[in-house]
Amino acid sequence: MNEKMIGLVKTSSGEGNMELQELPVPEPKAGEVQIAIAATGICGSDLHIYHSDIALAMKPPVITGHEFSGVVSKIGEGVENVKVGDRVSAITSFKTCGICINCKSGKTNICQHKKLIGYWYDGAFANYIVIPEANVQILPDNVSFHEGAVLEPLCCAIEATIELTRVKPEDTVVVMGPGLIGQLTAQLAQLCGGRVILIGTNKDQQRLELALSLGIHHTLNLETADVNRYISDFTNGSGVDIVFECSGAPAAARQGLQLLRRGGQYTQVGLFGKPIDIDFEQIAYKEAKVTGSLGQNWLNWNLAIKLLKNKRIQILPLVSEVLPLDRWKEGFNNFEKGLGTKILLEPISSLSR
Ligand SMILES: [Zn+2]
Ligand SMILES: [Zn+2]
Repeated sequence: MNEKMIGLVKTSSGEGNMELQELPVPEPKAGEVQIAIAATGICGSDLHIYHSDIALAMKPPVITGHEFSGVVSKIGEGVENVKVGDRVSAITSFKTCGICINCKSGKTNICQHKKLIGYWYDGAFANYIVIPEANVQILPDNVSFHEGAVLEPLCCAIEATIELTRVKPEDTVVVMGPGLIGQLTAQLAQLCGGRVILIGTNKDQQRLELALSLGIHHTLNLETADVNRYISDFTNGSGVDIVFECSGAPAAARQGLQLLRRGGQYTQVGLFGKPIDIDFEQIAYKEAKVTGSLGQNWLNWNLAIKLLKNKRIQILPLVSEVLPLDRWKEGFNNFEKGLGTKILLEPISSLSR
């Protein structure tokens, strides 16, 4: 078969170095499935890939994109649990070692040897992707392709909010950064009974308004509100029980640590792209519990699909723009400027449309 498709390729490491290319359609080997892509989300880490400031294993040239939905178009030999026509999304680790302590305990997201689609294996900014059968996640009938493309970031937010941080009823929770992960984290924290304050800056004004319209309890603009005072009043002077840093901005991390109560829980979700300057000693003085959160595993997918199926999480209002793949630069630029929350790209059939 010599069919061609169009993919967005990181051609080599270094700033930029991304372009659309005509490529052969990948064929599934034994145990693999081929998926016709419906939509793929632009992730914060795709911007880091663009700028080459991400510390995850990469092997360019590689087709980028890892948050997707689509329809199974072909199955390889021996595939039993997935059939042609299934509407699907997928876990992003193409390969994990299966023998390290993290793999054995289900924490495949922190397997030392994991290799991801869109980084090491060809990803989903294309017409087709091929992945192992075991990674496929079947979408419920009432979950749209656009929602399906946002499942992966929902899983990441579940890992941070529910698995690692375990928000409890009446916990006071600050979420720094109202981007997609921040919005989902805020929704999940409220679902667990937390009292949430979502914090952003001037450029986030629309995102903060969107969050309020979706029922997030409180929002604050760092640049216009006296945040320290607000949190002090909100918590009778103690500081909040939990801080999620979802912006990847050093100033937000510093402020988040300040707003945390003694004995509180700080969870780092955003990526800074470089070492940052922070008063780490505060963690000792506060006896703060600090954790990081990276990616997603099967447990998260299991819950994410139920939450979407039962409409417990609002995802579609967070999809701000859907563009054809040949306008990827516009999408990346808008996303970098903070315009909208989740921008999706849809495949194109040829380079000269
Ligand atoms: Zn992502
Ligand atoms: Zn492993």
